[in-house]
Amino acid sequence: MEHLSNWKNKESYEERQEKRKDRILIVSLSVLTLAVLTILFSLIHSQVTTQQATTATTATTSAATDTSADSSAAESSDNAAIPDQTSGLLVSFLDVGQGDSIFLRSPSGKTMLIDGGPEGSFSVIDAYLSSLGVVGLDVVVASHLHADHIGGLVSLVDTYAIGDFYYPNFDATSEVYFELLDALNESQAVVHRPYAETDTMIPWDDSVEVQILAPYETIYDDFNDTSYIIRVKYGNTAVLLMGDATQTSEKLALKAQPNQNFKADIIKISHHGSSDGTLEEFLDVVSPAIAVISCGANNDYGHPHQSVLDMLLERGITIYRTDLNGTITMLLDGTSVTVIE
Ligand SMILES: [Zn+2]
Ligand SMILES: [Zn+2]
Repeated sequence: MEHLSNWKNKESYEERQEKRKDRILIVSLSVLTLAVLTILFSLIHSQVTTQQATTATTATTSAATDTSADSSAAESSDNAAIPDQTSGLLVSFLDVGQGDSIFLRSPSGKTMLIDGGPEGSFSVIDAYLSSLGVVGLDVVVASHLHADHIGGLVSLVDTYAIGDFYYPNFDATSEVYFELLDALNESQAVVHRPYAETDTMIPWDDSVEVQILAPYETIYDDFNDTSYIIRVKYGNTAVLLMGDATQTSEKLALKAQPNQNFKADIIKISHHGSSDGTLEEFLDVVSPAIAVISCGANNDYGHPHQSVLDMLLERGITIYRTDLNGTITMLLDGTSVTVIE
């Protein structure tokens, strides 16, 4: 009976038309929904991919460093001697004339730049980083805000992907500092301005300790004393980077920290070898085998001062100078230091 009644209630032409319209509408709506969903999905997916690409920039730096270091070593005789990253902590004192710029690469390929030399140094830094295949820096530090230390950092911040940027909590009013602030504001770099306290560390590489030993939250008469004093320690080897700290800051740091925190195989002599830095008592606590002086050939200040050179020579400390030796590269393997000519 059922089917008969169905048969009897056969749809009229109009009814069929109505139903067809409904079906077409449903199909069209489904197709439209599917299309919208597909577009939405691909949009979200491309956004996620971009984000992943951005966050991976720093991570790929190390991988890039590894592979292109090999190829650049083959191409450029200048960097032929630079060993691959797995052999230890690489420290390079770049020849930027009258100023400081120090590049470090950890055994796992993390990168750090401390200071950017005077204005115009960016081309030197850029060429050096490019030769190692470095496209981003995990950490950048300005030891203090004098132009011979941050001049080259403005273009660096504009050009390179930077993870964390450190500089001391003492402001300057110079134009170059305002330019650096602008560049930092436009960059993705995370800015940190810690004072030295006990165990103030810059997180960088698990196998390397980067400790800030000065300046402290106090008033310094000489702006050079606002310099970060940083010790980078890998295994039983260490390098002490003095910025432009004078004897005042050295005295204060010695009082604030245990002596063992200053021990280092290599000291980057303070303030381009000026006699206002490097207290004898401080040098004896550091007890280095090697001293590096970063200064320009025939500079106006007479750096390095003879009294500082004498102090180093009297102690049998080997001296390297960027004005005489150019860029100086050293490898710390945890037990010994190799100077790469
Ligand atoms: Zn300086
Ligand atoms: Zn200075």
